[in-house]
Order: sequence, then C-alpha cells, then structure tokens
Amino acid sequence: MTFEYSAPENLLENKTIMITGAGDGIGKACAQCFVDHGATVILLSRSQDKLEALYDQIESTHPGKVIIHPMDFKIAVAQDYKALAESLNQQFPCLDGLIHNAALLGARSPIEFYPEQDWNDLMQVNVNSAFHLSKALIPALTQSEDARVIFTSSSVGRVGKAYWGAYGITKFAVEGLMQTMADELANTSSVRVNSLNPGGTRTQMRKDAYPAEDPATVPTADSIMPVYLYLMSPEAKSLHGQALSVRGFDPSEPEKA
Ligand code: NDP
Repeated sequence: MTFEYSAPENLLENKTIMITGAGDGIGKACAQCFVDHGATVILLSRSQDKLEALYDQIESTHPGKVIIHPMDFKIAVAQDYKALAESLNQQFPCLDGLIHNAALLGARSPIEFYPEQDWNDLMQVNVNSAFHLSKALIPALTQSEDARVIFTSSSVGRVGKAYWGAYGITKFAVEGLMQTMADELANTSSVRVNSLNPGGTRTQMRKDAYPAEDPATVPTADSIMPVYLYLMSPEAKSLHGQALSVRGFDPSEPEKA
C-alpha cells in the first residue's frame, strides 16, 4: 500500500535542509518538495550545470529559498567539508535536516573481477562524503530544536547480493554510520537519525542498473516524496536509529517502515 501524507504547505517553514546529490533524481525531487513546503534548501551535487538549472527553477517561484554548492565528492577532502560548514555557520543559526542522498552505482561484477577504481570511487562518494559531512555538520544539527538526518540506503545494503559489489557494500557502511550516529545522538541531542531505502525509483541510476526495464513500470521520484516529507515532519520524532523503506512504509510499525 502506498503511504499517503497530506502535509500542510508550511510544514517545513523556517527549516534549513541540506540535500546531497540534489542535481538529479531523488535528491532533485526532495529539493523541490521541501521548498514547496516552506524550507530553505542547501543543495550539493557534482554537476554545476544541473544545480544552476535547479536554482533557476526554484528561485523563480520561491526567491531566496535555495543555495547551491557544487562539490565533487570523489575529490573533496576533509577541509572542503569543514569550509562548507563554517560558511553555513555564518549564514544560518542551525541546520534542521541533512539528506545523504548522493551515490555512484559503479560496476556490477563478481568481487573476483570488481574494478579497483570503482571500489575506491564508491567508497569516497557513497561513504566518505557522508562521514565528512556528518562530522562537519553535527554541531549545526545539534543547534536545531528538532533535526533529521536521513541516510539513503538500498535493499542490497541490507542483504548482500551477488554482483552488486561496492555499491551494496557502501550501503552496508552507510547503515553502520547511521546506527552509530543514532546511538551517539540519542540522549544527547534532538537529532533523529535514520536510513531510508527508496526502493526502485525512475531515475538515471535505475536506468543504468536495469537497462532492459520499462521505466514506466517504476515509481517516479515525486511519488515517493510523502515518505521523505513525513520523516522531516515533527510527527516522525519518535523514529530514530531505524532502517526504513519507502515500500510498505508504516510509521506506526517501525519494523515494517
Ligand atoms: P541519480 O543517479 O539520479 O542521482 C545521483 C545524484 O548523486 C546526482 O545528483 C549526482 O550528481 C550525485 N552524485 C554522483 N556522484 C557524485 C559526486 N562524485 N559528487 C557529488 N554528487 C554526486 O540517482 P538516484 O536519484 O536514483 O539515487 C539517489 C539515492 O537513492 C542514491 O543514494 C541511490 O543509491 C539510492 N537508491 C536509488 C534507487 C533507485 O531505484 N533509483 C534504489 C535504491 C537506492 P550530478 O547529477 O550533479 O552528477
């Protein structure tokens, strides 16, 4: 059953939310959806062109609600994340949301033949960026009265699957980072930390992973936004340290969500 959530238009008013991988796919849908519900969004992504196009799109209807920050996680180093956090610290009193969404798919191949370059690139983009960004932004998140961190997972990051190589393994790492941060922040802050498996979603990554699939059979990124919106809402305050899924999402039964 599809999760439905009718959120008021001002649900995220006065909230500042960062989204990585915001130039395309699910991250781009999050950016538009959060702004439509009153948030100010800070958008990170690799492609400057995509971010500028999205900036123009959002700015035309919601002036002053979007900041873009092109950043290639493959080559970014700790100092880049610290500099970003310091710059945001000058502009915002706190950070209310952080969506770790950027990822690379890489090769699908048996481990025996898995390309070393893909392994290193995926660790850097899918895992190291989430570590550096979380580390740099925890002080700003803890300043919020009710902050959320969402790590983007996958079914192959919860049960290992042949030929998914570094992609699946980086998602296992992301689940570990989520659990560790959730445990650390549980009693010392109001930051709620969860992972979310969006499930098959009609994006470029899905097309690359399943080239023979008819995209029309796969849910759009917009159609899964009610779950993201709910997780950012005050109602989701009791969800913490959970490995959640869009498919069958049911917040009244966290183990099913
Ligand atoms: P897309 O490929 O459509 O988008 C991925 C985003 O990540 C893009 O905006 C891209 O930036 C960004 N990105 C990639 N490499 C880098 C980098 N080196 N530095 C900074 N940003 C980078 O993927 P989806 O929207 O499908 O995926 C979003 C998340 O959902 C991912 O974590 C994915 O693993 C997960 N997921 C997706 C599923 C699906 O079926 N689509 C299923 C399960 C999980 P840019 O566009 O600027 O190049």
